[in-house]
Order: sequence, then C-alpha cells, then structure tokens
Amino acid sequence: MKIFREPGKLQKWCRARKLAGKRIALVPTMGYLHEGHLSLIERARRKGADEIVVSVFVNPVQFGPNEDFAKYPRDEKADLAKCRAAGATAVFFPTPANMYLPRHSVYVNEEDLSRGLCGARRPGHFRGVCTVVAKLFNLTHPDFAVFGQKDYQQAQVIRRMVRDLNFDLQIVVAPIVREPSGLARSSRNTYLSAEERERAVAISRGLKGLRGLKGLKGLKGELEKAGLKVDYVECVDAETLEPRKRVEKGCCVLVAAYCGKTRLIDNILI
Ligand code: AMP
Repeated sequence: MKIFREPGKLQKWCRARKLAGKRIALVPTMGYLHEGHLSLIERARRKGADEIVVSVFVNPVQFGPNEDFAKYPRDEKADLAKCRAAGATAVFFPTPANMYLPRHSVYVNEEDLSRGLCGARRPGHFRGVCTVVAKLFNLTHPDFAVFGQKDYQQAQVIRRMVRDLNFDLQIVVAPIVREPSGLARSSRNTYLSAEERERAVAISRGLKGLRGLKGLKGLKGELEKAGLKVDYVECVDAETLEPRKRVEKGCCVLVAAYCGKTRLIDNILI
C-alpha cells in the first residue's frame, strides 16, 4: 500500500496508474476509520477498482469557527492498518498547509441542494466539502468515488457538483453501516459517554419506527424524550431535497440532534 502526503506525488502516481489502464476508485474520509468507512473500501473493491485511494483529511475549511475541528479524533497509525486490511492500495494523508497554499482563493459553491438541512445550520460547510472533494478529484482522476448515505445531503451535493462541473467520474453511494444497537457508525461517536450512547439510539429507533410515531412530530417528541436536543427533523424529496409534507415513497427523512455536546446525523430513505 502506497502512502502519500504530498498532493503532487499522489497526482503523479494516479496519472501513471491511469495511463497504465487501471481503474481508480477514490474514498474520501476524515479518518478515525470505522466499519462505515471500511464498507466504502469494500464497495470499491467489489466494483472492480484496481487502485483504491483512501484520503484521510480533516478539512479545516468545512468546519465552522465553533465546531470540533481541533478536537476531531485522529489516529493515523490505526487508520493505516485498517486501510491495509480492507484492501486500499493507496492512502493520502495531506496536511492543511499542503492542501491550502498561502492565499488559496478558489472555492466551489453548490447553491441549491446545500441551502437547507445541514447547509442552513453549518454555514460554509458544503463550500468546504465541495472544494476539498473537487481538489481530491483533480488529484486522483478516479473512475468512481464512493460516499456514504450516512451523509445524505453531502452525497446529493457532490452528485450535483459532478453533474454541473462535468467531472468525468461516477458517484457511488453506499448504505449506512450501524452499530448493533442501530446507532449509525460515526467517528464522532467516540465523543459519547456510555450513557449518551444509549440515549443516542433514539435517533435510529425513531427513524425506523417512523410509521408508528405518527410522522415527524412523533419522531421529534421521541428524541426530546431521550434528552436529545433536536437541530432538525425534516422530510424532503430524496432528489431535490425540497420539503415534503407527507412521509411517503421518494422521500428522505433526516435528523440532526445533539446528544450532550455531540451533533449526530442520520436518515432514512422511504
Ligand atoms: P467522514 O470521515 O465522516 O467524513 O466520512 C467519510 C465517508 O464515509 C463519507 O462518504 C460518509 O458518508 C461515509 N460514512 C461515514 N459513516 C458512515 C456509515 N456509518 N455508514 C456508511 N458510510 C459512512
């Protein structure tokens, strides 16, 4: 498994692999890898990628000033071992300084799908995501890139960016991997105490039991009953992300809620 830290070196290697006729898959992550991330690598393997490039980068540009950039969990050694075991062929560990040169001044803005949901609560978040993902696409020239449904809005925003900027690659979205309790796996779960972890299960349980809960109000009530602070509970059209009154086929119901200080997200496609 190759390890790259410098964007230029990664780009040169990917170009050579591409010229050699290899199919390249990209799996972008912020590291502290868990089963959810590994399922994306596995998906890339099953889709027949010859080279699977996993990027591990806590991208400062997608964090707001009061968010958890500084304390976001990092464990390079464990991530390397997991990537190797999962079948990645290259790992990219850049630093903020080599991804964003002095006077970096070009950003990618998606202006439709990123307006609501997390985009509304985290100003500048998707600008940071689109910018770094566009850079990763240009560094790796992947045939396809794998994202998780866990970050549903992100996957839709990236799809739109690929369509509207004519990136020559396919976006693959893999299902949400959960803990046995139902809690969606997330690097941020490490912030949760044992007691918070139990209360956080209300999110996945609520989404799964949406029918019995009489819609979004019932779901919100369940979350509050578990002591979570609801950031949003919304039902939207799964394609356009426009609000939908009724929870019906073709919708996605998304939740963001604080469990203590930890902001958790989850969703379900109807
Ligand atoms: P992150 O490291 O949290 O930025 O996530 C990197 C990629 O892994 C994104 O495409 C996420 O949607 C995906 N991912 C994170 N958690 C999960 C999960 N529980 N199941 C599936 N994919 C996930």
